[in-house]
Amino acid sequence: MTPTPHRPHPEIFDIAVIGGGIVGSAIARELSGHDVSVALLEARDDVGDGTSKANTAILHTGFDAKPGTLESRLVARGYHLLSDYAKATGIPVEHTGAVLVAWNQEELDALPALKEKAEANGYEHCRIVDADEVYRVLPDLGEGVLGGLAVPDESIICTWTTNLALATDAKQRGTTLLLEHAVTGIDVGDDATTLYTARGDVRARWVVNAAGLGADMIDQLFGHDRFTVTPRRGELFVFDKLARPKVGKIVLPVPSSRGKGVLISPTIYGNVMLGPTAEDLTDRTNTATSEDGYDFLLSKGARLMPSLLSEEVTASYAGLRAAIDRDDYLIEATPEQRYLLVGGIRSTGLTAGIAIAEHVTGLLAETGLGLRSRSDLPAPPRMPNIGEATTRPYQDTDLIAEDTAYGTIVCFCERVTEGEIRDACHAPVPARSLEGLRRRTRAMNGRCQGFFCGAAVAALRTQHQTDDGCCSQHKDK
Ligand SMILES: Cc1cc2nc3c(=O)[nH]c(=O)nc-3n(C[C@H](O)[C@H](O)[C@H](O)COP(=O)(O)OP(=O)(O)OC[C@H]3O[C@@H](n4cnc5c(N)ncnc54)[C@H](O)[C@@H]3O)c2cc1C
Repeated sequence: MTPTPHRPHPEIFDIAVIGGGIVGSAIARELSGHDVSVALLEARDDVGDGTSKANTAILHTGFDAKPGTLESRLVARGYHLLSDYAKATGIPVEHTGAVLVAWNQEELDALPALKEKAEANGYEHCRIVDADEVYRVLPDLGEGVLGGLAVPDESIICTWTTNLALATDAKQRGTTLLLEHAVTGIDVGDDATTLYTARGDVRARWVVNAAGLGADMIDQLFGHDRFTVTPRRGELFVFDKLARPKVGKIVLPVPSSRGKGVLISPTIYGNVMLGPTAEDLTDRTNTATSEDGYDFLLSKGARLMPSLLSEEVTASYAGLRAAIDRDDYLIEATPEQRYLLVGGIRSTGLTAGIAIAEHVTGLLAETGLGLRSRSDLPAPPRMPNIGEATTRPYQDTDLIAEDTAYGTIVCFCERVTEGEIRDACHAPVPARSLEGLRRRTRAMNGRCQGFFCGAAVAALRTQHQTDDGCCSQHKDK
């Protein structure tokens, strides 16, 4: 069973999607709801290991998008599609609502225009509120609030489960998931395009480029020179669960031209998050946190909610937005190359992913690619609950009575059980590393960051390691 590089997959897929983040997984899922064969190629050893794993995890209504853009349309639609999909699959969501807080006269004066903008985006529920009301719902905010804009439908969601649900669904609908398949070269032939990877070549009639931070490089391999991705780093602090009662709603700043600014948000796992920063880098792999970022967040936090800074910080992390030099998504088909680019999905792709997939499918259909909907689709997967708002396995006495592994806690900080770790190792898209287990179960994600449970979690992973077949297509029989 040794890998044989450069051995082509025997099948020519109808469509190959490059990138197993939220956007690529959503596209593969949507396309395999039609009568076509689909391959999903991901460079890393897991889906959702790029930008999609490290964001602020807000399900945006799209109230503050630029009206008339593709992004505005797809975020607004994505909000509803993902809310419904979360219900169907069990992705944790909490409809907390948000308050956009004005701290000076200029920001206060900007609120009516922001409300009008929300209405131009089709979102009618924003309400301007006075300082008393802001302090009533967020009593721990710092001094000096002048007023706010309530956005009752902004929500928090689990980005990890979203990516996994979409990839699992795609796989169960028949998508061939090819992990560790970094595309390094492309040859557009008359009938099929060859994607070169170190694990073997993959051929497909159509190619969809959803490579996130690497989308411009793939685009260049197709011979284009239309945009450059700038990795825009966002650093965040995660505060301990004891801080959660302070933050019942998402606290948003008045946005500036640099982006949405620093926010405070409850998380779906019961913590509180402060961030993100916005810093343009050149290194597309630099997800380290920095001293400057740390200082900046402390200064922002001190203004927004001083008492938050006396809470323990559980972790800090950084994600890279795929910023491009235009103010909208860049989604374009090049029919003569049977190629479609999905670029510039910068700071809203978690929310918009399913709507982007729908849009991409529409564009492919317009090119004449026969896309007949299937009538034999499997039910969407039911995902394990790792959110705090509903019953977790360790709290479920019926489940524990059926299977005592759900009563055996392995990670005490996050209350993750042996049953959940076992299930994550045997899932349709299984955990293939400790990081993969962390995203599927929350194990090692709490205060001790795996100091106490790491060895036990690693032992369970070794015990339950499976060959999931995600890379085996090019191995000798
Ligand atoms: C700090 C921060 C905060 C954010 N907050 C929010 C938020 O609150 N709400 C929201 O909706 N959005 C938010 N976003 C945006 C959201 O996270 C992204 O838009 C979304 O994750 C992009 O998904 P993607 O699939 O395009 O990219 P990715 O998740 O990066 O996926 C692209 C994949 O392509 C793979 N790839 C790259 N090159 C190749 C290659 N050559 N061959 C094969 N595979 C390749 C990568 O390994 C990667 O897995 C935030 C982003 C950041 C950084």
